[in-house]
Amino acid sequence: MLLQWFWVPLGALAILALYQQFRIYQIHRESKKNAELFQIVTENAADMIALVDVKGRRLYNSPAYKRILGYSPAELGETSAFEQIHPDDRFKILEAAREARETGVGKRLEYRVKHKNGSWRVLESVASAVRDAKGEVAKLVIVNRDITERKRAEEQLEHNLFHDPLTGLPNRRQFLDRLQTSFVRARRDAGRPYTLLLANVDHFKVFNETMGTAAGDHVLLEISRRLAAHLQQDDTIARCERGGASAEVVLFRVGGDEFTILLDAVDDPSDAMRVAKRIQEAVAEPFFVESREVRVAVSIGIALSTLTHERPEDVLKDADVAMRRAKALGGSRCEVFDEAMHTRAVGRLRLEADLRAAMAERQFRVYYQPVVQLDTRRIVSFEALLRWDHPTQGLISPYRFIEAAEDTGVLVSIGHWLILQACQQLRDWEANHFSEQPMTITVNVSARQFADARLMNDIQDALQQTGIDPSRLQLEMTESVAAADPKLTVTVLSQLKHLGIGVILDNFGTGTTSLRGLRQFKVDALKIDRSLVGEMQSDRAACDIVELIAALAHKMNLKVIAEGIETARQAERLLELGCEYGQGYYFSPPMEAKAAQQFMRQQVAPRTRGAAK
Ligand code: C2E
Ligand code: CA
Repeated sequence: MLLQWFWVPLGALAILALYQQFRIYQIHRESKKNAELFQIVTENAADMIALVDVKGRRLYNSPAYKRILGYSPAELGETSAFEQIHPDDRFKILEAAREARETGVGKRLEYRVKHKNGSWRVLESVASAVRDAKGEVAKLVIVNRDITERKRAEEQLEHNLFHDPLTGLPNRRQFLDRLQTSFVRARRDAGRPYTLLLANVDHFKVFNETMGTAAGDHVLLEISRRLAAHLQQDDTIARCERGGASAEVVLFRVGGDEFTILLDAVDDPSDAMRVAKRIQEAVAEPFFVESREVRVAVSIGIALSTLTHERPEDVLKDADVAMRRAKALGGSRCEVFDEAMHTRAVGRLRLEADLRAAMAERQFRVYYQPVVQLDTRRIVSFEALLRWDHPTQGLISPYRFIEAAEDTGVLVSIGHWLILQACQQLRDWEANHFSEQPMTITVNVSARQFADARLMNDIQDALQQTGIDPSRLQLEMTESVAAADPKLTVTVLSQLKHLGIGVILDNFGTGTTSLRGLRQFKVDALKIDRSLVGEMQSDRAACDIVELIAALAHKMNLKVIAEGIETARQAERLLELGCEYGQGYYFSPPMEAKAAQQFMRQQVAPRTRGAAK
């Protein structure tokens, strides 16, 4: 029995030993299987996998290393792989490896490695610990993923967010960021003022339209190159930079044809002027676009930072006001923002607000000025002219507000109202037989109205509401409106022709309409500008020009009207020079509808009396 008991544990031990043998065999098989599995996985993995011992020696490098970094496992060796890591990233790699060895948990990290061909690749790596039987970290398996392309795409995205794709210059977003920094710094440290230059390409829109957008892009690119090159070597900036520590000059493209230059180094207006002038000279040098010589100019507004600016945008606004002034004074010049400009800008803002209110409060009036046939004095039409009946200032001429009304867009609604008023007036006059002959009414349209798709609707609406014949309505547009966008002009003119509406080219002789433009724009009449009429008496050349315009118009089957006739002599001379219609104070100033009726009655009465004799 005792023996039996003795044999039982012996038997159990033997079984245990056998079992252990079996387990060892099994584990061996499993680990062999695992090793095979590890090999299959690592050899075929897209990522680079390395096995490293606790001393950092590389025990294994997967074949992906060769494919991604160009090195064979042998070339990588035990430690040389480390040498290929970017020096700035080595420390974080060592730190991460130490942490993984100590804690068994590896951190995900990014680092740069040199490809065998010398280029840099970005890897993302994560290490996992392999523990021995005692649970100690024995090895690290490091999986490296090549994320170079992803990084590049991310960087490109980031770049696009802050750069202009055409010129590669920092964009408006970056400019506003930078401006904010300068603004905050100048407030904190009053000794760090800055200057802003805002450069806008003169007549860029016209250039773009005549030569095409590809050529326009070419021009912008060339300008940006010249600006950048110039700023790098400008001696005024260099001098200022020597004076101030870490001075910065940054060029941005902030809009289609608009560049800003932030000069942290320059705080003297005359220095800024000097920089601006040289920029203008650099831009003015002719260059070739599609084998055509091109000359462009820029208008520059300069604003200096002041402690009265409440927001960074305020200095930009000042530069914008100065730039607009430079344009208004003829372009290709630079202006420094000053207090007077500020006052004007504020006045302008007030005017714009008042105009909106004036529309709502029906303060606009229409005045009518007759156009007569110069030989018979018969009224052929009335020009409808806008007046602002201001509650405190009385009647205001459109010269004082038309530009502001146009800029704010109020003119489009005023225009709608005016066309309807004018058509209604004509209908009433026709219905009451104020004139013996059929008359027309003419309405002025500005550039913005002309380019606005609502114009056609407004006209159709007015014709429908009043029932007047379309041929009784005429539009007047200036040469500059016509020339601003020739393609659009041709389209709108053909739509007007289709409707049966006549068009007069206003202020003719002062603009730059070419003969080709005149043929292209199918208008019905030319209105000779009153400056030419005014000069006729003292300047023979003015008479010659009037005569030429009249001859040209007749050759092209167009009517000719002269405006601004103030004397009998002018009326006679114009008739001699071939001009058949005219308007001006000599016949009548613009007047209210009632006065215009009176005028018509007086005109009709003498001739009626004459006819009765
Ligand atoms: P404009 O089309 O050249 O109109 C002629 C201007 O000359 C009018 O000024 C008229 O009052 C003035 N005038 C007429 N006869 C004589 C004269 O014998 N001598 C002188 N020195 N001046 C004379 P007004 O009415 O102040 O209009 C100024 C400008 O405002 C117009 O110039 C026109 O461009 C614009 N305008 C007027 N009404 C409208 C409108 O309803 N819409 C648009 N878009 N512009 C308008
Ligand atoms: Ca006119």
